[in-house]
Amino acid sequence: MIVRVGHLYPEYLNIYADRGNIAVLERRAAARGHELSVEPLSVGAKPRLGSYDLLYVGGGQDREQAMITPDLSARGDAIREVVEDGVALLAVCGGYQLLGRGYRGRDGSRLEGVGLFPHETVAGDTRMIGDVLLESTLAEAAGRTIAGFENHAGRTRLDEGAAPLGRVVAGYGNDGTSGFEGCRVGRALGTYLHGPLLPRNPWLADLLLSWALAHATGGEPQELAPLADELELQAHAVAAARARSRGGRPA
Ligand code: GLN
Repeated sequence: MIVRVGHLYPEYLNIYADRGNIAVLERRAAARGHELSVEPLSVGAKPRLGSYDLLYVGGGQDREQAMITPDLSARGDAIREVVEDGVALLAVCGGYQLLGRGYRGRDGSRLEGVGLFPHETVAGDTRMIGDVLLESTLAEAAGRTIAGFENHAGRTRLDEGAAPLGRVVAGYGNDGTSGFEGCRVGRALGTYLHGPLLPRNPWLADLLLSWALAHATGGEPQELAPLADELELQAHAVAAARARSRGGRPA
């Protein structure tokens, strides 16, 4: 299968090696005989978002977020619609914030979000930085661990009843107090976890790939054939141990 990926604003939202997530999806798709066709979607592009099987948006500083917000906001209806129709999506940090209702930066200016994820984000006075370990709350992977790295001023408050990505075992997570991190709507996942995220969480990469393949084939998500993930699992173990050495959530 050809799996079509729309990579939103790669030249603006690309900090902390988040584009490594795309490289992992390419490799894991190819290992199963599929091909990832990745298309950059930047300011002014006029794509038909429903023609992609997965949309991806990375992280960025407040300045870069402000530069793409007008263009992204104009795509809000289309993004909500295609996710409703089963397109998979991964949004990391700055992209995750802007796919909520909005982000109020350190200078008090508010960036209008697209309202895909049921949350609001407000920048705090300090940055939440460090290794993070989560326990997945996804129905498809309850209890599996997710390891990554966070660096954000934004505090993201999920609406009552919103589905997180996971429970915080170590680190700050969405806001440093709720005990949860990330958000899920349909086949769309949002998270603060950089690292990049997917190389050290191979099961999560495969879950996203199975969702994208389901959209490409019009079928239901299928379990992908396992790969020899020794290196990936070692990377996960190292990141998880580093997060745990923070001694649980910060005060
Ligand atoms: N600028 C946003 C914040 O500081 C997002 C940062 C990021 O993408 N790492 O919270």
